[in-house]
Amino acid sequence: MSKENWQKLPLCHKEAENLDIILVCDGAASVGQVGHEVGVKLNKENPDKSRMCCLSAIAAGSKVHIDVAKKAKRLIAINGCGNKCTSKILENLGIKPTYEFTIVNEGVEKVSTLDFDEADVERIAKKMVETIEYKEEQ
Ligand code: SF4
Repeated sequence: MSKENWQKLPLCHKEAENLDIILVCDGAASVGQVGHEVGVKLNKENPDKSRMCCLSAIAAGSKVHIDVAKKAKRLIAINGCGNKCTSKILENLGIKPTYEFTIVNEGVEKVSTLDFDEADVERIAKKMVETIEYKEEQ
């Protein structure tokens, strides 16, 4: 896809109050990569409702990014495995997510690979959309 056709997204620090902010651990294992792809899918298919934000920046103490998490209309935390790094980063800052999903609890095995099954992404993204009720709002 040429750069001119890239999907432009709202600036999360300007629009957080109006958006579901999605934070993913992006872990370097199957479950982390599935979580990342699910986050991308939710964002790209609901660009007026949701926006991924940089979890690493939050973990690094970036005030702008921490404020995004605090100001979010709703906060969606996606963890790859039971270590729940996304949720723990938020917990350390006293921030409670509105929704928390953990990919390993959704029938995906944690494997030492960056590969994943697209069918798992579709299935889990569908469940998340139903949970956060995007369909009913459309
Ligand atoms: S939650 Fe699991 S997969 Fe995600 S970054 Fe932490 S250890 Fe890695």
